This record gives sequence, structure tokens and C-alpha cells, in this order.
Amino acid sequence: MSTALLLPILALFGLVIGSFLNVVIVRVPAGESVIGPASKCPQCENPIAARDNIPVVSWLLLRGKCRSCGESIPAGYPLVEAANTALWVLAGLRFGASWELVPYAVFFSVLLALSVIDLELYILPNKITYPSILVSLVAVVPLAYLSVDEPRNAILGAVIGGVAYAGFLGVTLIAYELIVHKEGMGMGDVKLAALLGIWLGYLNPFLVLYALIAASLIGLVVGAIIMIVRKASEPYPFGPWLAVGAVGTILLSEQILHTLLNAA
Ligand SMILES: [Zn+2]
Repeated sequence: MSTALLLPILALFGLVIGSFLNVVIVRVPAGESVIGPASKCPQCENPIAARDNIPVVSWLLLRGKCRSCGESIPAGYPLVEAANTALWVLAGLRFGASWELVPYAVFFSVLLALSVIDLELYILPNKITYPSILVSLVAVVPLAYLSVDEPRNAILGAVIGGVAYAGFLGVTLIAYELIVHKEGMGMGDVKLAALLGIWLGYLNPFLVLYALIAASLIGLVVGAIIMIVRKASEPYPFGPWLAVGAVGTILLSEQILHTLLNAA
């Protein structure tokens, strides 16, 4: 399939899945079903009509206000939809029309949902991380046999990546709590690292190192900005930076691996 056809299709699916992610972000931490009932206005609880539920477009047409009560609907909703669209298009640019495209696009969407939940509530729900890790471990097996020349290496890489990333963060977490006696990262970050490590390691376990360095740098910069702005050492989530580091590394993985091979 040509890129000219693939990218608009991905953008469309990205929008629709982004709309579903908003449901996941609101309902999973609240312990509610993601399947039904239909979406409601967060203020007046009137059901949202289908014509007012078109991703991004409806929010812009209604100027960010509920049709029933006129209360403003947070810009987070269209932003999540737009971000997911961008992630799916970027996945299309990295993987092209391949077997790997859909699992990586879905993986990016899971990371987006987890990041927004972590930013809002400082949690990474087990209801999302555990099933994601399990499904990923199963999915990499057929994916490797469909996609790469040496499938056993890719499967082994996924396992090594997951164990290495989770292991490193787990040890850091224990050391930090022993030495600093303060809570920093949480177990949720360790589970997230296992998930990230699987999909980084499937491509190449060395990518875990790049993702870790990227996440640490972003985390340090954002942490410093937050400390300056808030003038206090309030807790701030680490999950989003882990996710951004991994997505960035995966999108640039061809260039990174090319450089690695040339240097060896
Ligand atoms: Zn309303």
C-alpha cells in the first residue's frame, strides 16, 4: 500500500481510537465499564448525541461547550484525539504497511492513555499495565514469525528488554527509597518499564538504554521546570517521560540501530 493512501487511513483510525481512549482515561480509574453506557457530559450528565461526538470536530464546532448545559468541556478531550492521530501517523511513517504497524500503533495508544491517567491521577492502573504486558508477550511470537528473518532473536530480545528495563527501574526504586527515604517512582513505573522493554527489545534490546537515557533527560528537565514554577518539590509522575522516551526511540530506531551497527 502506498504511503499516500496509508497515512490518511491511519489518521482516521487514530482519531476514532483516540476518542475511545478518552473513555478509557475517564472510566478505567473510576472502575467503570469502557463498553457502555454512551458518553455523557461530565457536568450535566446528559448523554452526548452522535453528531456531537465526532472526534476533535465536534469540540471545535461547539467551541468546547456542552450543547445541553453550556458548561465547557476540557480541551484534554480533543487533545488526546489529536495526539493519538499523530502517533498513528508517526507509526505509519516508521513501519509502513507491515505486520508490525498495528501492534505498535496500538502500543502507542496504550501509552497515551496511561500517560494522561498518570498526569491527572499519579497512577498507572494495573487494569491496563498487566493485560498489556501479557498480551504483548503473546503477540510478539506470531509477529516475529511473520515479520523478521530470525524470529527467535526478536522474541528473546522482547523478553530481555522487558526484564532489563523493569529490573533496572525496580532496583533504582528500591535504592532510592532506602537512601533518600522518599517516594519517587512507584511500582506502576516498573510495570510500565516491562511493557516498554518488550516492544523496544523486540526491535533490539540495546534500544532500552536509549529509551532510558531519553526518559531520564526529559524527566529531569520537566522536573526542574515544575520545581521552579511551583517552588516546591511536589510529586510528579514519571510514567509519561518513560513513555515519551520509548516512543521517540522506537520512531528513530532505524537510525539508532544503523549508527550502532556502523560503530561496531
Ligand atoms: Zn452538559
